[in-house]
Amino acid sequence: MPNTNFNTTCCIVGAGPAGMMLGLLLARSGIQVTVLEQHTDFFRDFRGDTIHPSTLQLIYELGILPDFLRLPHQKTYQLRGYIENNPITIADFSKLQVQCPYIAFMPQWNFLDFLKQQAQQYPNFNLIMSCDAYDLLKNTDQICGIKAKTATSEIVINADLVIAADGRHSTIRDCSGLEVIDIGAPMDVLWFRLSHQEKDPNETFGKFIAGKIIIAISRGDYWQCGYVIPKGDATILQQQNIQDFRNKIVNALPFFSNRVQELKTWDDVKLLTVKIDRLKQWYLPGLLCIGDAAHAMSPVGGVGINLAIQDAVAAANILITPLKTKSVTLKTLAAVQQRRELAVKIIQKIQMLVQSKVIFKVLHKDEPIQIPWLIRQIQKLPVTRQFIGKLIGMGIRPEHIANEKS
Ligand SMILES: Cc1cc2nc3c(=O)[nH]c(=O)nc-3n(C[C@H](O)[C@H](O)[C@H](O)COP(=O)(O)OP(=O)(O)OC[C@H]3O[C@@H](n4cnc5c(N)ncnc54)[C@H](O)[C@@H]3O)c2cc1C
Repeated sequence: MPNTNFNTTCCIVGAGPAGMMLGLLLARSGIQVTVLEQHTDFFRDFRGDTIHPSTLQLIYELGILPDFLRLPHQKTYQLRGYIENNPITIADFSKLQVQCPYIAFMPQWNFLDFLKQQAQQYPNFNLIMSCDAYDLLKNTDQICGIKAKTATSEIVINADLVIAADGRHSTIRDCSGLEVIDIGAPMDVLWFRLSHQEKDPNETFGKFIAGKIIIAISRGDYWQCGYVIPKGDATILQQQNIQDFRNKIVNALPFFSNRVQELKTWDDVKLLTVKIDRLKQWYLPGLLCIGDAAHAMSPVGGVGINLAIQDAVAAANILITPLKTKSVTLKTLAAVQQRRELAVKIIQKIQMLVQSKVIFKVLHKDEPIQIPWLIRQIQKLPVTRQFIGKLIGMGIRPEHIANEKS
């Protein structure tokens, strides 16, 4: 296999939300940046479609909001759900003091493609698709690059700084030996699509009934659905006839009865395993982990993309000058963890609470669910819905673009 060897200032592994946003911000400030992505395109397994108000605000600060809003998306001003057949509103984004007080639902591949197009306007941005990073390059006291391969060549990339943004199953973090705190999650999610029909409700919602939680995201001409199951139950379920699964779906959402046959075999249903973990320390000399590679998020609240983007912005704000002056130190990298860690810890704590107090209980219940006291109070007091909207929509310590355009 032929060898390719080149130098870059910053090598980012992973073109997910964290990697692409950081790539764009570094390229925009004139830094030579190389992003490696193992897939040929952005059409990956479903990993969430939610672009939160805080991310939309960053897109606005970058001056690219009108281009972004021209892409097909659905706006959600409130997060709604049903407990049995009782409608509830959990979060209200509409009063947020931002450019876009709503969640924009957009397929993640469109969002990543958009970031790619923006980044490729800068000649110093280099994206290599179908490129699998498999090891770190080290000299005596410092990580100094990446070993990767494509179908046709071995690539060695020498870099002043390596960023691991390669997600929940990060190879780079495994290679680094950094210590992972595994928090775990009591559930997994089965994802599937069903067609959207004319008389369907045009909203995104979650439905909670005894023993079942189903999320239905209206994507225009189809529904992207998530069926939450207790951790490990997928193997048992998938040994049963697909008709049993279809029945469970219809039992939760009867309006799917006329199309549930679209799930022909278990191949039409994808298992996505849920985990929560985080690194004790996000960095080593020459290496920084961000996004899910530093802290895998549960889908609860749909905040993982947002946190990954916030990490990328914090990292860019802190790293741009030291990268330009070749003065990145351990202290610089520690500053990124320091800036983001509290927000991550708080959100993970909330996700764990929701997983154990709500999701676990609902999945193991066999009689109709009563609306809990807390949810009843939230229905009575609009201000509580706005508070939850702010927490989900803006996160903790929202970042802003430091305007270092070259
Ligand atoms: C079932 C499920 C549903 C979710 N739903 C939502 C939601 O609705 N909203 C939300 O905000 N979050 C959601 N999340 C969480 C969200 O997907 C993640 O938090 C977010 O994608 C993290 O972004 P990232 O850029 O850090 O990592 P990722 O999005 O995982 O991106 C990592 C990238 O690195 C690439 N890569 C991996 N290894 C290598 C390698 N060795 N070499 C080169 N490239 C590599 C991958 O192909 C990928 O493109 C969900 C998660 C799950 C599991």
